[in-house]
Amino acid sequence: MAYTYDDQNIFAKILRGEIPNNTVLETEHALAFRDINPQAPTHVLVIPKGPYVCFDHFAQEASDAEIVDYIRAVGEVCKAEGVEADGFRLIANAGKNGVQEVPHLHVHILAGRNLGRMLAPAN
Ligand code: AMP
Repeated sequence: MAYTYDDQNIFAKILRGEIPNNTVLETEHALAFRDINPQAPTHVLVIPKGPYVCFDHFAQEASDAEIVDYIRAVGEVCKAEGVEADGFRLIANAGKNGVQEVPHLHVHILAGRNLGRMLAPAN
């Protein structure tokens, strides 16, 4: 399947500076900022600057430089936020069944409390 990127999504607007954000880290190819509706004491989103809808889109089409920079940025945020001591969760929702709200790749870094089991039982 070919992904189509919608440049009116809210993270595209953040990248263009049209909407403010609480930046944690910026690199050549990535931006990390605090989630506006945090689900844990630490809740940081890391996005690539390029127009990628979701993780598999990025993994298939981004350059090696973008991928290295992005993954390193996740590591930098984990280090800066001190999440390794007590653990954390990394989530990348995708598409309808993944219940992705914003169609620009983002990983959630969640930490600072026990996050419970990975998935709630299906309804
Ligand atoms: P997802 O459901 O994985 O697409 O997650 C989207 C996330 O983006 C949610 O956790 C929202 O709280 C967060 N979010 C939406 N708008 C903003 C914003 N302007 N700044 C920071 N986080 C946002």
